[in-house]
Amino acid sequence: MRTFDFDLFVIGGGSGGVRAARMAAQTGARVGLAEAADLGGTCVNVGCIPKKLYSYAAGYAESFEEAAGFGWKLHKEPHFDWAHLKSQRAREITRLNGIYASLLKNSGVVLVTGWAQLVDAHTVEVDGKRHTAEHLLVATGGTPYVPDIPGREHIVTSDAMFDLDPFPRRLLVVGGGYIACEFASIFNGLGSQVTQLHRRAHLLTGFDDDVRQFVAGEMGKAGVDIRLNSEAASVARNPHGKHALTVTLARGQQVEADTVLFATGRVPNTQGLGLEAAGVKLDDKGAIAVDAHYRTSVPSIYAVGDVSTRVQLTPVALAEAMVVVDALFGKGKRRMDYEFIPTAVFTHPNIGTCGYSEIDARAKFGEITVFSSEFKSLRHTLSGSTERTFMKLVVDKKSDRVVGLHMVGADAGEVVQGFAVAMRAGATKALFDSTIGIHPTAAEEFVTMREPMPG
Ligand code: NDP
Repeated sequence: MRTFDFDLFVIGGGSGGVRAARMAAQTGARVGLAEAADLGGTCVNVGCIPKKLYSYAAGYAESFEEAAGFGWKLHKEPHFDWAHLKSQRAREITRLNGIYASLLKNSGVVLVTGWAQLVDAHTVEVDGKRHTAEHLLVATGGTPYVPDIPGREHIVTSDAMFDLDPFPRRLLVVGGGYIACEFASIFNGLGSQVTQLHRRAHLLTGFDDDVRQFVAGEMGKAGVDIRLNSEAASVARNPHGKHALTVTLARGQQVEADTVLFATGRVPNTQGLGLEAAGVKLDDKGAIAVDAHYRTSVPSIYAVGDVSTRVQLTPVALAEAMVVVDALFGKGKRRMDYEFIPTAVFTHPNIGTCGYSEIDARAKFGEITVFSSEFKSLRHTLSGSTERTFMKLVVDKKSDRVVGLHMVGADAGEVVQGFAVAMRAGATKALFDSTIGIHPTAAEEFVTMREPMPG
């Protein structure tokens, strides 16, 4: 029998890769992991974690404004120090990189620093050194996609947003998805004058239509200049301003900005991995094609997370990694279910959602009942803010099961996480109705909505 250096060798030290390596090593498997950059991948270094920290930073702007309504007098104008926020963030991310390294070390994973390339079905080469393994796992994530427009060299992607220098007084964001909406809200809160261009009539394709319209309204009220049905045709450096860029829209208008962010989607990181040499096939979207068990076209090679683009979310990559490890080194019982994955968009206010939009629910279940509520939260009765909260339930008429739950409002992600458990357990509207609310909260509205929307 052929002997290998490792039982599992993982390429990529992001969320999915690190989770798979650690969990496999904890079963006693001999595991190696290669990463060329900082451990933690997109989520830790230039994604979820720094984004949420900056979202908190942006939230203070509202809090300072609202404090007066609760009796607080600020004797000095609050002053925002961008350099301080950046260094605080960098310190925290470095701490997390270290935690990832010690988690791997403590579970016995051999960390190989460098760029890994597949050589064949069982061999990986990193900086000229070959490592063999019975199983290989590719978890190299994704990278921002930028359309090929004139002046592309002047724009930045989300990777650069956390360390911009100087702070952009005027920010133009192109895109209407998660990343575009989050950065538009964050930099608006931090004090930039933000313009957001989106090529469609509504932001956030795929979300419930009421949520899409409501959040655009709230972001607009907060100060983001959202221009729908708008596309950027070209970007040019303005010769009269040191940092100024001029963006020409498809219809000819021009917008000036200090920084232009393209948040126009992410593509799988498949370049330079030797996939072709090893015989690993890509799907029609350019992602690694995998079967229901995350096995690629080469039976000893697996892929999880954004490189196989099912759902581009960190917790999904983690769950997929656990399925692979269980199949290879455990009982093989773990399954991944892509229905009712809760998600949040950290706009101001946040979006939290689980299950089907009204349109998708109607297409899947036929007859549905919709309940919705829009209100000013208790906090804003004194804060002076005009922010409102929106909540919506979509119920399958036949089974009475709640199949869609959507919220735009403070801490929507925190609220929806708990409801997602109930939804996965098949909770009916009757069960929601029999649940006692926690008073006074916004969340209680989900268990007190009684009047369906006229259908
Ligand atoms: P999304 O797919 O969410 O959004 C991409 C946006 O760019 C869409 O509005 C899309 O428009 C637009 N777009 C695409 N191509 C072009 C183009 N050529 N010209 C103009 N606009 C274009 O991607 P993101 O980059 O925002 O995020 C990637 C993924 O990362 C998300 O899908 C999400 O799964 C994950 N993520 C999750 C977060 C969270 O959980 N909070 C936070 C950030 C990211 P259209 O709608 O017309 O396709």
